[in-house]
Amino acid sequence: MNLSGKTAIITGSNSGIGLGVARELAKAGADVVLNSFTDREEDHALAAEIAQETGTKARYIKADMSVGGECRALIEKAGACDILVNNAGIQHVAPIDQFPVDKWDAIIAINMNSAYHTMAAALPMMRAAGWGRIVNIASAHGLTASPYKAAYIAAKHGVVGMTKTVALETAQEPITCNAICPGYVLTPLVEAQIPDTMKEYDMSREDVIKNVMLERQPSKEFATVEQLGGTTVFLCSDAAAQITGTTISVDGGWTAL
Ligand code: NAD
Repeated sequence: MNLSGKTAIITGSNSGIGLGVARELAKAGADVVLNSFTDREEDHALAAEIAQETGTKARYIKADMSVGGECRALIEKAGACDILVNNAGIQHVAPIDQFPVDKWDAIIAINMNSAYHTMAAALPMMRAAGWGRIVNIASAHGLTASPYKAAYIAAKHGVVGMTKTVALETAQEPITCNAICPGYVLTPLVEAQIPDTMKEYDMSREDVIKNVMLERQPSKEFATVEQLGGTTVFLCSDAAAQITGTTISVDGGWTAL
């Protein structure tokens, strides 16, 4: 797939899946805009590294996806948005009666509301360009539930619903909107859940990985950021032009159970 001449904005992409998706899009020729809420030298260095490796233009733009105005400003500052990947996300694990209000609000804002703001800002640009691809990184938890993750699961189900709605609103235009639903991918977000999950289940790290995380992933393997990047590139290809409003699971069989 040749995405040269296309600009891709990937929210939450200085780490994990977002960074992996940005690398694969750049390898396919897209100019990528990396993002997170920090503004460190290493954030800009990641963009410079991708530019050097792929010969594409890669930039880093700071914007906090928990703030609606900053989500919209990210798209405007980028100046173009042919491909939008809503990926920024955080997690907190606790029973609902002990779920901290600030964590609830942050998860709903970053994991769900940010996609509303970025899509609202990006769609007019896609319409003006006559082409657009929106890829929302949801989760197997956008289709199923697990205990102790109420905010995350509410947000991810919301993203799946928003994806279908935007697909219907753009169905007669050269724009598609889909969600990718990964199972477990070993990224910093997943690493950070291990201690709390060990506490909730009173289990060792190894047992949490095998018996809790990968318990529902029949392949018993983590998905990789490269596989998620490859799936995103596919959704940007001509072969995927009639794929819209759907979810693609990259979950080792989780949702087949
Ligand atoms: P990660 O922690 O490695 O990456 C999350 C990214 O979001 C980081 O770049 C972080 O800086 C950014 N971010 C966090 N808060 C932000 C904010 N306020 N503004 C801007 N950026 C912010 O985690 P990951 O596993 O790569 O997760 C990426 C996405 O994939 C998330 O939406 C997550 O829910 C989803 N996901 C992950 C898995 C998994 O197993 N890792 C499974 C399913 C879905």
